[in-house]
Amino acid sequence: MTYTMRRVVWVVVYLLFVLFPLLTLLLGSLPPARDFWTEFSAALGYSGLAIMGLQFGITARFRYVTEPWGEDIIYHFHRQISLLAVALVIVHPLIMAAVHPELLEVPELSEAPWGAVAAFFSLFSLIAMVVTALWRAKLKIPYEVWHLSHITLALIAVAGGLFHMVGWSFYLANPWKRALWFGLTIFWVGLLLYVRIIKPLFMLRRPYRVTEVREERGDTTTLVMQPEGHDGFHFRTGQFGWLTVLGSPFKITAHPFSFSSSAAVTDGSVEMSIRNLGDFTREIPKTRVGQRVYLDGPYGSFTIGNPANMHVLIAGGVGVTPMMSMIRTLADRGDKRTVILFYGSKDWDLITFREELEALEARLDLKVIHVLADPPAEWSGERGFISADVLIQHLPAPYAAHEYFICGPDAMMDAIERALAQLDVPMSKYHAERYSFV
Ligand SMILES: Cc1cc2nc3c(=O)[nH]c(=O)nc-3n(C[C@H](O)[C@H](O)[C@H](O)COP(=O)(O)OP(=O)(O)OC[C@H]3O[C@@H](n4cnc5c(N)ncnc54)[C@H](O)[C@@H]3O)c2cc1C
Repeated sequence: MTYTMRRVVWVVVYLLFVLFPLLTLLLGSLPPARDFWTEFSAALGYSGLAIMGLQFGITARFRYVTEPWGEDIIYHFHRQISLLAVALVIVHPLIMAAVHPELLEVPELSEAPWGAVAAFFSLFSLIAMVVTALWRAKLKIPYEVWHLSHITLALIAVAGGLFHMVGWSFYLANPWKRALWFGLTIFWVGLLLYVRIIKPLFMLRRPYRVTEVREERGDTTTLVMQPEGHDGFHFRTGQFGWLTVLGSPFKITAHPFSFSSSAAVTDGSVEMSIRNLGDFTREIPKTRVGQRVYLDGPYGSFTIGNPANMHVLIAGGVGVTPMMSMIRTLADRGDKRTVILFYGSKDWDLITFREELEALEARLDLKVIHVLADPPAEWSGERGFISADVLIQHLPAPYAAHEYFICGPDAMMDAIERALAQLDVPMSKYHAERYSFV
């Protein structure tokens, strides 16, 4: 099945999962109808809860589901659709309060019906989730703390929503409908258990050993990892995995990194090249040879596949790692197609893989164009940032005939995407991997 067909199938499945529980409320005997706004507001609440519950599935890292889109798109969707779900759930009590102001006459908390208390907890958790997700960096919440609180708040929000619906006992007075919503909630939480317990259990039985720790230019360390007691997995160039270095795979500390090694290697070993950018990556150079690590992967669809007369790779900083895997793989496979790498770096001394790229230019039809933001005085190459002008300077027209791969800092990727649009390159011809999921 092509990626497009798989996308259509998953969109239909997604819509069914969102709409089905809502539509089942209308089956069988119905309670006496209420005014339009009350019913409308209830529909918003139910839809919001169904969308929120499905978020556990969207982030469950089901490779078959995420592959046609790419993980970054899935996480982007997760963020945007969450905002919609939260908006629906917040509008629900606002409408109810406007239509039934008597509901606002809150008794003592101890006297409040438990359906209302559950709604309060659900709503509070949702608002806390939005605030901490949107302003995590500003609030200086460490990533791992945020991740754990995000999961906890999501569980409280969904459980609170369900108990509110049952407590209110209007549509869910019917035991079959109540059972359906309980079953659905168990299914959603099961998706979370799958990614946090079942998958780590599986990974525990498939550990890796670090066989080499290689220092690279540009404050970057390459870890070479060998499967221990199993055959490992096969990845495609440009894909990535989740790495756990210290502790067991049950810990919430897995970080995503592209594979930088050749996909043509057959002994199961994989390499990741990791730049020191924060508290987790800072510890990577201290990794010892022989240390046990865990890998969950491969993921992503940032892979060379479509036929093209030329592959144009555009990398900024550590965004070069998936490109390195592509180039090494093409070299190992003796691929004769032309590859051109535009590689943006700060200065000459910090160019990760600089010498190896020079060596690879002799092994395949590869041309590397370095673009330096802070070049030495004698530098005669490209200066500043990769732009439409730089691309025009080095690429043969028609530009739409080539296949483009972009990976780097967000600002660079936005600029390149605009530059490609300027060169009339259709979106189907370029592929992007963003290193920011959150
Ligand atoms: C698909 C993908 C592939 C990547 N490949 C590479 C690579 O090959 N080499 C490389 O050096 N970097 C790569 N990165 C970036 C790398 O994952 C982050 O730099 C790293 O996780 C930062 O962690 P930290 O704790 O050191 O930094 P922090 O300062 O704690 O985090 C910096 C930012 O990284 C993100 N981040 C932190 N922890 C996680 C986590 N557990 N999961 C997801 N995001 C997190 C958050 O947005 C955070 O704000 C990749 C990212 C993605 C999404």
